[in-house]
Amino acid sequence: MRNWADTIDLGAAPIARPGSVDELRRIVAGSERVRALGAGHSFSGVLATAGGFVRLDGLPPAVDIDRETGTAKVSAGMRYADVAAALHPAGYALANLASLPDISVAGATATGTHGSGDTRRGLAAAVVGLELVGPEGDLVQLRRDVDRETFAGSVVSLGALGVATGVTLEIEPAFEVAQSVLTGVPLDAVRDRFDEVSGAAYSVSVFTRWADDASVWLKRRTDRPVIGLDLGTPASGPLHPVPGADPAPCTEQLGTPGPWHLRLPHFRPGSTPGTGDELQSEYFLPRAAAGTALDALRGIGALLRPVLHVSEIRTVRGDDLWLSPAYARDSVAFHFTWVKDPARVLPAIDAVEELLAPLGARPHWAKLTGMTGGDIRSHYPRASDFAELLAKSDPGGKFANDFVDGLFAPGSR
Ligand SMILES: Cc1cc2nc3c(=O)[nH]c(=O)nc-3n(C[C@H](O)[C@H](O)[C@H](O)COP(=O)(O)OP(=O)(O)OC[C@H]3O[C@@H](n4cnc5c(N)ncnc54)[C@H](O)[C@@H]3O)c2cc1C
Repeated sequence: MRNWADTIDLGAAPIARPGSVDELRRIVAGSERVRALGAGHSFSGVLATAGGFVRLDGLPPAVDIDRETGTAKVSAGMRYADVAAALHPAGYALANLASLPDISVAGATATGTHGSGDTRRGLAAAVVGLELVGPEGDLVQLRRDVDRETFAGSVVSLGALGVATGVTLEIEPAFEVAQSVLTGVPLDAVRDRFDEVSGAAYSVSVFTRWADDASVWLKRRTDRPVIGLDLGTPASGPLHPVPGADPAPCTEQLGTPGPWHLRLPHFRPGSTPGTGDELQSEYFLPRAAAGTALDALRGIGALLRPVLHVSEIRTVRGDDLWLSPAYARDSVAFHFTWVKDPARVLPAIDAVEELLAPLGARPHWAKLTGMTGGDIRSHYPRASDFAELLAKSDPGGKFANDFVDGLFAPGSR
């Protein structure tokens, strides 16, 4: 078994598939080192285990809607596509989704996964309750309104605090979204009118190859006023974010309204997302650095293009989750879909990081980076608090791996 990108061998480790939470508790209690495996879409060492894996796809999938509190408790291993398929017919929605719906709720939550939108926070910020199996097989229940500090430290966890079995999410009444794409938008205009561009719809993505132009993907809620954007040319047919790629896997465009979960992601459930053959990296910066970063990246466009399928620029509202890449700051995220050739891509990643690290870049936990654990940690004001929480929750390092150790090394615990 390998990760989605086929770059990390997961098969060498034993993978247990418990059929009940009690069985999971026994497996965790009896393991020396173990980690949860979600849908395996991560590119970084966050996915690796120092012992065995547990997968939760043998646990019964459940979506329990509580209409009074406006929340739904979902089985943590479920994919957003399946959660949405249960919520939508019941008249409910999640506020946002990532570019693909086939990732697990727990995996996305653990890594601070996000979509886009000036008013939209990362997916983990929708979590109001968490159930975890701790190192002794103990059941830990955390609630946002009760366990304030511990909760804020435990949601984006890098999988290091235990195996999540249940996640309670904020939900809202179902809504429709119309998606349209503007092509040939000058990159200069994206920089000069960044607030206008990123605020032109509920969720906005800018795709570019760092030459002179970009395409702007607008996902507009049909129950909100239309905001005009007089830039570029409306696409006359469906497009793929990667210029020239077949748009068949992409969600419907051309302004046709449809359910939130079939428009907010770029890719349809069950399709091959992205190019299907790629590496990824991504950096969260303070929103105010958008223009400087745009100029800097454009300046090395000629170096990036030979190894780049496409870049995506998104915005993410700040939150209070300690390890969230958008912790305490409204953010702009610069994403890179690279060709799958690590030897050629790693120097490009270094060049990007040389420019973005001084601007306060926090790399996406699940994507590739050359930044050291110490560098990354220095961008997280609550990193020491997380190290303390980790030492308390998992003193023996049962859920640790090299990635987590590199950030919160036993010495710092
Ligand atoms: C094509 C593609 C598109 C992507 N698009 C986006 C995007 O739009 N936005 C974005 O932010 N990211 C994006 N990503 C990255 C992706 O969202 C993350 O890799 C995410 O973690 C994937 O979830 P997963 O279920 O595959 O988790 P995995 O990769 O399986 O696991 C990730 C981490 O979560 C932990 N984990 C998993 N399950 C549990 C559990 N039950 N309890 C505790 N810890 C657990 C694992 O131990 C691991 O540390 C994309 C990735 C791909 C391949």
